[in-house]
Amino acid sequence: MTECKTIWSAAQKRLSKTLDRDSYQRFLAGVSPVAIDREHGVFSLAAPNELIALWLEANYRELVTDAIRDESGESFEVKFSGDGVPTPAASETPRRQSEPSKSKPAKDAGYTSPYRPDFTFDSFVVGNNNRIVHAAARAVSEAPGKAYNPLFIYGGVGLGKTHLLQAIASEVHRRRPRAKINFLTSEEFVNLYVEALQLKKLAQFRRQVRSLDLLLIDDVHFFEGKVGSSEEFFHTFNALHNAHKQIVLASDRTPQQMNGLEQRLVSRFEWGLSEQILPPEFETRVAILKKKQEAHSIKLSDDILYLIANRIPSNIRNLESALTKLIMNISAFGCDMTVDRAEELLRDKFESEAVKMVTIDAIQRRVAEHFDIRVADMMSRKRPQNIAGPRMIAMYLSRKLTNNSLPAIGDAFNRNHATIMHAVETVENRMHDDDGFRMTIGALKRRLRSP
Ligand code: ADP
Ligand code: MG
Repeated sequence: MTECKTIWSAAQKRLSKTLDRDSYQRFLAGVSPVAIDREHGVFSLAAPNELIALWLEANYRELVTDAIRDESGESFEVKFSGDGVPTPAASETPRRQSEPSKSKPAKDAGYTSPYRPDFTFDSFVVGNNNRIVHAAARAVSEAPGKAYNPLFIYGGVGLGKTHLLQAIASEVHRRRPRAKINFLTSEEFVNLYVEALQLKKLAQFRRQVRSLDLLLIDDVHFFEGKVGSSEEFFHTFNALHNAHKQIVLASDRTPQQMNGLEQRLVSRFEWGLSEQILPPEFETRVAILKKKQEAHSIKLSDDILYLIANRIPSNIRNLESALTKLIMNISAFGCDMTVDRAEELLRDKFESEAVKMVTIDAIQRRVAEHFDIRVADMMSRKRPQNIAGPRMIAMYLSRKLTNNSLPAIGDAFNRNHATIMHAVETVENRMHDDDGFRMTIGALKRRLRSP
């Protein structure tokens, strides 16, 4: 282990004791050492993204400088860059805040519409898993409002839905710079609507949204159960559709699978084309890794790319972060990468990927067996304690051990996502208070994870 890494991990330990856990996790845990430059007295660190780098610069510079000085016995100027390994927490930060420097604010409808420069059609690898969706997205961006309206893209986490939506926005913007485009998550739509209501600016909100040429709504499943906003969205949808303006939607489930959404809205979602993105097959995963690698000067051998593609089958975001991790490591330490070393560096990622391959189905079966109830009870409406308790445990384990979204887990238990959240919280609290209970959960987890 090089000096730079040693110092930084000691400094991190120190920082983790000084800061509260949440701040440490969000801002410092994901920071990695890049290099020590003794000639200029600079200690370089890489944050997962620009926003975090800025944040560190503004809020933690002194603390970090002190921690490094205390651990190394030398004074360095600390520099933060934003090109480290993306962490899940970092990628969850709202797009509009997280890409201030990269995004290109277009003043349409009063909101900024930042299209991510790295999420274009050029950087999107087409495989059997996404061929039709890709063609549809292309068609829509060439002739908005004319090809498929709406275009509804659905599929699991990290499979490229947001990438495609952003690519459509960028492409339409490129072809027609004056087109009014807005990219919003459904959560942002809800927030804007609520804000407009409170400020008594509903008329203005409507005028703005309804005058768009292209409206892209990401993560539509967030509308579930939000009666007021989904009603508003229903009218927005109608206005745009009637005016032949393009609507593009993305979701982790099909229109029919959305609970608590009015039937009339669901049926509108099905007016155009709804198409699924599937997990990519091995060859496509390798092609994606090669494509992502183009952005870096360091190249990994095919053996190593195959290793990553083999062991991370389900989520392209994770595939990418494994690649970044290896590249960072090579650039920080300047040594060659071998398959063994890659295997070692990525062990955690591979393990968590293996964990994610546990299915809800397997969890329901295992938990039912353990508590001697029927698997059907997991989905039933029955409430006696001997069933409700194990059911909550199965919900908790589904959340912790699988890759499924809350609504998807809700579906598997015939409940809504709020119930799942409540179950997770209840189980966590009880684990905190009751050692025996915690051990039972631990044992169940281990049995589910062992092949
Ligand atoms: P989703 O919105 O479906 O959860 P994203 O669109 O955020 O997923 O994609 C996750 C990551 O995977 C992004 O970095 C994206 O660029 C990448 N990605 C997904 N599909 C592809 C693809 N076909 N080609 C290249 N990169 C892809
Ligand atoms: Mg997304």
